[in-house]
Amino acid sequence: MSHKFHPESKMMSHGFKPSLSEGAIKSPVFQTSTFVFDKAEDGKAFFELAYGKREPNENEKSGLIYSRLNNPNLQILEERLCLWDKADQAAVFESGMAAISTVLLEFLKPGDLLLYSRPVYGGTDHFIHEVLPQFQIDVVEFYAGQSEEEIIANIEKTGKADKLKLVYCETPANPTNALIDFDVCKRIKEKYATEDKPVYFAADNTYMGPLWQHPLAHGADLVIYSATKYIGGHSDLIAGVVLGSDELMARIKGLRTFLGNMAAPYTGWLLMRSLETLKIRMEAQQANAIQVADFLKDHPKVEKVYYLGQLAKNSEEYKIYKRQNSGPGAMIAFEVKGGEKEVFKVLNQLELIKLAVSLGSTESLVQHPKTMTHAGVPEEDLQRLGVTDNLIRLSVGVENYEDLIWDLNQALETI
Ligand SMILES: *Cc1c(COP(=O)(O)O)cnc(C)c1O
Repeated sequence: MSHKFHPESKMMSHGFKPSLSEGAIKSPVFQTSTFVFDKAEDGKAFFELAYGKREPNENEKSGLIYSRLNNPNLQILEERLCLWDKADQAAVFESGMAAISTVLLEFLKPGDLLLYSRPVYGGTDHFIHEVLPQFQIDVVEFYAGQSEEEIIANIEKTGKADKLKLVYCETPANPTNALIDFDVCKRIKEKYATEDKPVYFAADNTYMGPLWQHPLAHGADLVIYSATKYIGGHSDLIAGVVLGSDELMARIKGLRTFLGNMAAPYTGWLLMRSLETLKIRMEAQQANAIQVADFLKDHPKVEKVYYLGQLAKNSEEYKIYKRQNSGPGAMIAFEVKGGEKEVFKVLNQLELIKLAVSLGSTESLVQHPKTMTHAGVPEEDLQRLGVTDNLIRLSVGVENYEDLIWDLNQALETI
């Protein structure tokens, strides 16, 4: 009775009651826009709770109203997602960008300051630089490897340190797997928080979560995912997730209701199916990536490999890795000998590995960050971030690793 099941043991059934769905072992798709109230009094009570007009009575649960506010597929999915990150609540969105933009808009107001790590996902970077300024929100950036003193000096230089409201980071950083230290983010958040002005800390955990990294356990207030990647895992949907405390998630879900950017019931249903195999997929991908990275390290046509499983044991990065990550993951970047011409030769020659952006899926994907995912980043920033002409990003899938190595080898032979 007191046994505590692991998350992977609960992904098939948690939060779903078969007796409410004719005994079906799996949740049906609740493809419905609205829900019928038994009586007018119920409708009134459900809206009172949904709009926060009163506190719930003992054992009173908010009822189903309308699929922009709540839908069983999203509610069950959200309960299951909470188990991996040990969060109070989750909110599922129609994309990772919907999740990220909703967090930024909820916690930043005109005059506020945002501290964020670079590089971040291209869409996030664009939103921070092109959209937030339209709301008079100022931003200051920091990088992997930058000292805490330097980051603080840069915050002070803005003259708006007292307006800092949000620390936002993405780690490992795309595409080179550079690591941001959660402890530094947490100390900065605490340094600038006051009695009446909390500073929140949000982390994009798409690259490593929800298996190999848990930002909430390291002081983050919110953890964000593009569920399009590992959580969805089959390159067949777009979705996003935010997780955190009851208090902060009430705000996130409130804004989601009025932006109307929640995921659709069918997307929620597909994500529940994906969660059942999340752990075995990610573990198989990681086991493959370790083999593939090992092969690349020794290949004569490969100049450099960026993989968390190959960090130098005496490096500062390795210490952060040991604190924050329970595995090296399945994302690899590597430089081939040559430039864009040689890279394109390799990309065009691959037979099994698909040439496409995105990551975390069952099939392996390669792309050229400089001309594809990071094409919008200014040239001087690319240099500093290590996004060179000869860099390839590889997301390792669940294929047989010997086939992946064969494919990479025959493609590298052409240069
Ligand atoms: C893909 C991605 C996003 C954006 O997610 P979408 O589902 O494409 O909107 C955000 N952050 C990271 C790290 C990503 O890889």
